[in-house]
Amino acid sequence: MSKVISICNQKGGVGKTTTAINLAFFLAQKEKKTLLIDFDPQGNTTSGLGIDKNKVEKSIYEALFNRITINDTVYDTALSNLKLVPSNISLAGSEIELVNLDGREYKLKESLNNIKDSFDFIVIDSPPSLGLLTINALAASDSTLIPIQCEYYALEGLTQLLNTIELVKTNLNPGLQIEGILLTMADFRTNLTQEVIDEARTFFKEKVFQTIIPRSIRISESPGFGKPIFLYDKDSIGALRYLELTNEILGEKPLDRVEVKTEPTQNFSEAKE
Ligand code: ATP
Ligand code: MG
Repeated sequence: MSKVISICNQKGGVGKTTTAINLAFFLAQKEKKTLLIDFDPQGNTTSGLGIDKNKVEKSIYEALFNRITINDTVYDTALSNLKLVPSNISLAGSEIELVNLDGREYKLKESLNNIKDSFDFIVIDSPPSLGLLTINALAASDSTLIPIQCEYYALEGLTQLLNTIELVKTNLNPGLQIEGILLTMADFRTNLTQEVIDEARTFFKEKVFQTIIPRSIRISESPGFGKPIFLYDKDSIGALRYLELTNEILGEKPLDRVEVKTEPTQNFSEAKE
């Protein structure tokens, strides 16, 4: 039995893709057979794993509309346990193509049925909208993970997202759970970060992951090298935190935080971001 986790937030730039890539990577590193699905026309998950999205000919788009089976879209990655179904701009028109189809909300779920049994985990990166692609991702998922950025207006839009999740639960996918809310890009030197953390914990209580992802230059650099953070800098704080998130999701013990090597503090510009 595989578990399908989608990473959703209609807000852009909150860390969905970064979380999808690094969660999938650590699941695979922990010997879980993992399939990462890029379900965003931007194709950032695809390029973040070092695959040239412009050269991809068989993507999630073709599988979604049954032009090929999803099995024919699977790419190998640096880890044998981690496979990728890529995406690119061809997916951009699919919201409109989907509109008139029967069972338009279940197209991704149907595609996954052909491949689900080969994996322990399927992680879906979704686009920054609440359109039909995100609805397909939610309808196909056992749970959804919501990243929020430690920034002004972080919680704005969350009510709308949670309403959408409720609607999907009621109408399309009764089993859908919230895997958790993940605070990302935290800068612990600022009051703002602390305020967002406090506010999120007040509202969403134990739904908020213990693990918080810090703002980190190493994390932001890694997609440019086509690598998950661990393969880019295995001792970085970002790698460690994403490993902790993975452990939390697997219900494993947190790591000993004392031994953590922090990043050099020369990144003064980060403090001002
Ligand atoms: P979109 O909505 O456009 O798909 P997203 O929610 O997928 O965006 P990401 O692409 O993961 O967000 O992150 C947005 C930008 O922030 C990227 O340039 C990414 O490299 C960077 N980033 C993500 N997480 C961190 C972090 N913890 N520290 C620093 N930079 C980060
Ligand atoms: Mg993204």
